[in-house]
Amino acid sequence: MGAPGAGKGTQARLLAERKGIPHVSTGDILREAQEHGTPLGRQARDFMERGQLVPDDVVVGIVEDRLRNGDCVHGCILDGFPRTVTQARALERLGNPPTSVVALVVPEEELVRRLTGRRVCRACGTMFHVTSNPPRVAGVCDRCRGELYQRDDDLESTIRRRLEVYAEQTAPVLKHYRDAGLLHEVPGTGDREEVYQRVAATLR
Ligand code: AMP
Repeated sequence: MGAPGAGKGTQARLLAERKGIPHVSTGDILREAQEHGTPLGRQARDFMERGQLVPDDVVVGIVEDRLRNGDCVHGCILDGFPRTVTQARALERLGNPPTSVVALVVPEEELVRRLTGRRVCRACGTMFHVTSNPPRVAGVCDRCRGELYQRDDDLESTIRRRLEVYAEQTAPVLKHYRDAGLLHEVPGTGDREEVYQRVAATLR
């Protein structure tokens, strides 16, 4: 867990890669649905463009389908879900309560700096930053040579809205997991390897 720009996607990808379990990102699934123009993608587009959350029943349905997939039998890294207390309760009802919840903590001005400069590979999802982590060739992914793009919701006005939504709707989920004794709050500042070591240590 963590606010937009806290590094959830970067850390979840690293963890999944190094621990050999699937990375399940509701944001990635929704963006992919939009690229393919599916009914789910069309349903989600307006909410995402405005920086709002997609309705709970839609996202819970996505996660339910994804967890039924055989590759999640030994667990997975959930990224960007649950984002509301209703979603957290639904996850418990599905019989998949999380065993550990990591929240990355980053000051707001750093979140805005990261998001306004973020560029993402359209093909493999690797993330870059125009000044603090630029690709070797502008606009091209170092890893797979895919095209880098700026997410529609990474525009400054939408970023502010996403941060408000996080404080209003997602912060209560932190309390839910804190009360359950599952929450590990980890500083999300520093380079990605440093943050990874902190995250991995809490999960060990
Ligand atoms: P992310 O890639 O996690 O930053 O998500 C991007 C956008 O997708 C969010 O701003 C929401 O509009 C939508 N989204 C992703 N995950 C969820 C979720 N669990 N619940 C509701 N909306 C979500």
